[in-house]
Amino acid sequence: MQNRQVRVRFAPSPTGPLHIGGVRTALYNYLFAKKLGGVNILRIEDTDQTRFVSGAEAYIIDALTWLGIKFDEGDHVGGDYGPYRQSDRKEIYKGFVDQLLKDDWAYIAFDSADDLDVLRKQYEAEKKTFQYDSSTRGQLRNSLTLSNEEVTALLNSDHPYVVRFKMPENVEIRVNDLIRGEVVVSSNTLDDKVLYKSDGMPTYHLANIVDDHLMEISHVIRGEEWLPSAPLHVMLYKAFKWEDTMPQFAHLPLLLKPDGNGKLSKRDGDRLGFPVFPTEWIDPKTGIVSSGYREAGYFPEAVVNILAFLGWNPGTEKEQYTMDELIHDFSLERISKSGAKFDLEKAKWFNHQYLIHKSDEELAEAFKIVLEGLQITRDFDFLVAFCGVLKDRCSLMHDFWKQGYFFFMAPTEYDQDVIKKKWKPETPDLLINLADFLSIIEPFDEFTIETAVKGYLEENHIGMGQIMNAWRLVLVGSNAGPAMFQIAALLGKEETIRRIEVGIAAIK
Ligand code: GLU
Repeated sequence: MQNRQVRVRFAPSPTGPLHIGGVRTALYNYLFAKKLGGVNILRIEDTDQTRFVSGAEAYIIDALTWLGIKFDEGDHVGGDYGPYRQSDRKEIYKGFVDQLLKDDWAYIAFDSADDLDVLRKQYEAEKKTFQYDSSTRGQLRNSLTLSNEEVTALLNSDHPYVVRFKMPENVEIRVNDLIRGEVVVSSNTLDDKVLYKSDGMPTYHLANIVDDHLMEISHVIRGEEWLPSAPLHVMLYKAFKWEDTMPQFAHLPLLLKPDGNGKLSKRDGDRLGFPVFPTEWIDPKTGIVSSGYREAGYFPEAVVNILAFLGWNPGTEKEQYTMDELIHDFSLERISKSGAKFDLEKAKWFNHQYLIHKSDEELAEAFKIVLEGLQITRDFDFLVAFCGVLKDRCSLMHDFWKQGYFFFMAPTEYDQDVIKKKWKPETPDLLINLADFLSIIEPFDEFTIETAVKGYLEENHIGMGQIMNAWRLVLVGSNAGPAMFQIAALLGKEETIRRIEVGIAAIK
């Protein structure tokens, strides 16, 4: 056990796009495996065919690849423990179910969904909750209560059935969790979970345990929502006599909404304006588009950094971490027990840190894609200069547009408040004279314009306050934007003068 190779798996169900909570689980598995020289596996848990969504598996792989979360084994990369998609492993599970039946750890139940519904209602009427368990299975239609002949006859007549785990009575089940410590649960509180159905499909619980065993998983690192299933899983290892090689468990704290309590949901993201999925997802049935971090202008390394810190911290002041640094410093010991609140401002702050450290050329490449979406093209040198001027003001790639759209379209409307406050009878003349002066400035760069214009204003006894706001208004359409001399330089001489003339004519 001591020298067992670290083998971890990320085991999503392809029921839709991957929530960022799931991405964090994938990330922590990856970091843990890499840190310990282990193997990271992608296993697709698609036994519940009713919840299968086409495109979800490809989405998961694409999103994790974008983030740099890599797998050593999986259907898409191969490996010695495959197949890695549970629907392709269907044949494997039956033998294990038979083993449990033979060893009296499981039984066959024939109760129909309707039968159980009736019971549930009866219990409810008496203010009780029905559970298929040691207290009720003796009165229900199953292989424990029916004769062997009856069971054989039902099976031969293709009567639908399920195989249930026979949860023993009065057992204290201990789950040793690497994050939460020892969790003790009485088996009397647990029901007899369905493990297998007559359609030949195992349920999550059975497939998960059988696969973790066959794939020699050493550590199960997964979301806290699976903690209630862990006692059953521990019992399954016992039933199969696999306790010696049972993986160690680590249940990760929940990702919480930014405000209030509870798990972060897509609704919170919609309500507060941030994505809860790594990349954009288009629902194949409804066509509804859900936003993703990639398309919202986040960098993959920032998203990794954001998610790493939602539930883990290095215990130092250091916040900016590359993937390699995370691999180096990551440990399960430093994962917190309590839920981690998603903080949008902090997420943007992280992205801003990565953004300002990128070269203007890199940013221009990324912004070119934003512009393509808007069907705008500009020469690359201009975009490089533009990104250099605006990057301090931007957190996300889309902010470049919000902060600098006026570099791509001349204003057609002018802010009325600014006109009221700053447009005086003498303003048009002042601006025309300024335009004349600008026409002789060479080279038309920020430093030269600034020096020349300041000298010109001083010489002509014109205060900055008399002209700068009006000048900005005709170039931008409002009082927004970076420094005036930067704006003029980036627009170029011709466009600066043209906007002054157009503005004067329009504002009159
Ligand atoms: N298929 C489960 C899920 O979708 C995996 C849980 C586990 O890791 O055991 O989250």
